[in-house]
Amino acid sequence: MSAACVFCRIIAGEIPSMRVYEDASIVAFLDIAPLAPGHLLVVPRVHVTTLFEMTESQVSTVAAQLPRLAKAVLRVTGASGLNVLQNNGRSAGQVVEHVHFHLIPRVESDGLGFRWNAGSYPPGRAEDVQRRLVAELSDRSQTG
Ligand code: AMP
Ligand code: ZN
Repeated sequence: MSAACVFCRIIAGEIPSMRVYEDASIVAFLDIAPLAPGHLLVVPRVHVTTLFEMTESQVSTVAAQLPRLAKAVLRVTGASGLNVLQNNGRSAGQVVEHVHFHLIPRVESDGLGFRWNAGSYPPGRAEDVQRRLVAELSDRSQTG
């Protein structure tokens, strides 16, 4: 619990929220400024800033509930699609520094969209990035 954290305060019941599900590990509530009706935030009770600090077990616990929550959002809103969005760090759009997963229901032509400015690699760059990532991921001393 971080007294300065809005989501910790929501979890503690100090700030009101429109909860739709909770268990021993997570709380899910309506985003106060939704991108679409039914936009949910799924938040682990433990105060962790980003995905990078979560244990595998904490991630598994949250992820296990996502399909059920997402299907409920789809059924209730009538949406035909749904984005799971998870922002880490200010540069990635994270505003609330308590890790959370957005469930955003989508319909055709809802105008939401995300800027997806796809690019391409210059010659040799993809191979360089791949080689470095494979080395990084095979380095057993890197556990976290
Ligand atoms: P992010 O940009 O990924 O950090 O998203 C934070 C989200 O938290 C935004 O979509 C906000 O609308 C939402 N939010 C902030 N404060 C509250 C609150 N008190 N209750 C519900 N949602 C909130
Ligand atoms: Zn918190």
